[in-house]
Amino acid sequence: MFFFYEKRESGDIDSSKGGITWGGPTVPAVTQLRQMLRRALRGGGAPPVIFVEAFAGCGRVAAAARRRGWRTVQLELKQGIDLTDPHVLSLLEGWISSGVICALVLAPPCSSWSVARRGHPRSPGGPPRTPQHLWGLPGLPPKDAAKVRVGNATMKAAVRLLQKCAVHKVPVVFENPIGSRCFQLPALRRLLSAPFAVPITCDFCRFGTRWRKRTRLLFLHVPRAALDKLDMRWTGRSGLCSVTGKPHIILQSCDSSGIPWTQRAEAYPKRLARAMASALSSAVDEMHLQRLHTLSQ
Ligand SMILES: [Zn+2]
Repeated sequence: MFFFYEKRESGDIDSSKGGITWGGPTVPAVTQLRQMLRRALRGGGAPPVIFVEAFAGCGRVAAAARRRGWRTVQLELKQGIDLTDPHVLSLLEGWISSGVICALVLAPPCSSWSVARRGHPRSPGGPPRTPQHLWGLPGLPPKDAAKVRVGNATMKAAVRLLQKCAVHKVPVVFENPIGSRCFQLPALRRLLSAPFAVPITCDFCRFGTRWRKRTRLLFLHVPRAALDKLDMRWTGRSGLCSVTGKPHIILQSCDSSGIPWTQRAEAYPKRLARAMASALSSAVDEMHLQRLHTLSQ
């Protein structure tokens, strides 16, 4: 193990609570999380385990998993669940090791990890991280330093949950854009080369968007055969999208209603969310069958 909760500073990270302040009501997150589990498990029919989407945004993968009959829990800061809160994190680790969580989706915020920001390091708008300073350059302007602190805390939480799933053989997918520096982190590089890891690169446009948004999905404990539908990249030449025949929308500036394109492109295309839920779902089924087979021997 190489990191996790470094000393927090004041500002965007609330050191008294041990998490990120987000401007909403102060919620006893662990209590809320336990209530979410009880509510999810009360539903009839499905096996008493939960499919969890963490850093869920609008929760499209969880929605697709529900349609496949799973009970789901969506964890999202805007709904009061701060995954960087150490109490929340250790509760979730317990759910992973005890088998309550059957599958997990992890999509930690990527903006501070992007290689898209060019310019002079430490200048406003310049890159906040370099290959030598993956956890953030020293001496950043205050606004960038704050973004890096949040990016670090959420990434550390995601990697810790990913490692827990690796150990306990829980099917999991970790997602970040292809240009995210997080994939250079030693912990993620180790997981990328693990025998039970399958990294997949896919383009959102192959799942119905006008933007390409090339993305990396790192699956652990999911059979390769379950991932064929996800391994889809733009193959066009001449700069036109091979799916729509039109130029890709470049995710810069805003659309006609003033919404930044990066924000419009945040959610997974529904078809991609369905394919992710389907892959994790078959991995869970497969594991269940293997367990039954072992028991019958
Ligand atoms: Zn395309």
